[in-house]
Amino acid sequence: MIKEVFKPASIEEAVKLKGSDVYYLSGGTQINWTPAMEERKVLGQSQIEKVIILKDVLSIEIKKEGSALSIGAGVTLQELIDSSDTPDVLKKASRYIASRNIRNMATIGGNIAANRADSNIIPCLIALKADVETADEGIMCVEKYVREEKSGLIKRVILPPLDGVCVVDAVYKSSGSYPSVTTAVMVSRQEVVIVVGCVSKHVVQLKKLGQSVLNGSLKGSDLAAAVEAEVNPVGDLLGSAKYKKYLSGTMVAHSIDLARKGA
Ligand SMILES: Cc1cc2nc3c(=O)[nH]c(=O)nc-3n(C[C@H](O)[C@H](O)[C@H](O)COP(=O)(O)OP(=O)(O)OC[C@H]3O[C@@H](n4cnc5c(N)ncnc54)[C@H](O)[C@@H]3O)c2cc1C
Repeated sequence: MIKEVFKPASIEEAVKLKGSDVYYLSGGTQINWTPAMEERKVLGQSQIEKVIILKDVLSIEIKKEGSALSIGAGVTLQELIDSSDTPDVLKKASRYIASRNIRNMATIGGNIAANRADSNIIPCLIALKADVETADEGIMCVEKYVREEKSGLIKRVILPPLDGVCVVDAVYKSSGSYPSVTTAVMVSRQEVVIVVGCVSKHVVQLKKLGQSVLNGSLKGSDLAAAVEAEVNPVGDLLGSAKYKKYLSGTMVAHSIDLARKGA
């Protein structure tokens, strides 16, 4: 339960207030979420009692900067959907979070920092080759922030111009459940990016496979089999490990096909 709240006047003050037992709070949908609190108990982590409210210090602006798009970390998923500047594929990824109430509160910065394996947003951002600007370490790619389990304050997300076709997908056991597998791919003349969620602790980019797809040595059912072999999901109520492997392979192969056809 939250017992102490800090309200900084600037990003710099927020960073100074951060400590190992003091957490950033943006939309609060993850931090205040009972299942997330229960999970901390199961993992033996201490409960969150002190938070730094980021609402008044984070940018909520979506603006073009040359050919790139800058998205303030405080922008909510619903604001992303409503903006005419947001790429359609990122709108689609945001809509996978079905509850409008959650989308009205959940922020893009909070989604990345929550670093959930079943995030719909992170795979899409990695496929779009997005960067984050953090208060303490400057600019780095979203993939690195997630892979290295960074916790620095995210100020904004930077989307470079899309030089290819990006496709996102997700499979759900039921309309009210969390995703069994999420995928995102991006195909351009120079690069193929393949990203899979729900198959390990965090969303993962399958870098070697992307290279093989680009040079034409891997396609169709061979690609699906290669993805299956590469991912290591854990079986749970959302599907057995074998089923999630199968889904990952077919979803990636299908999405690559769609991207090659221009989606
Ligand atoms: C019913 C329900 C359904 C959900 N479904 C999904 C789903 O399908 N997919 C999904 O991905 N998520 C889902 N979530 C989780 C959550 O809503 C999202 O991950 C959301 O985007 C988190 O954003 P937030 O702003 O609410 O983060 P918060 O809860 O405020 O924070 C989340 C984490 O990020 C840190 N943080 C927040 N902002 C920053 C920042 N700017 N810089 C650094 N650290 C920061 C916090 O300290 C905390 O550790 C769901 C939550 C609920 C309650």
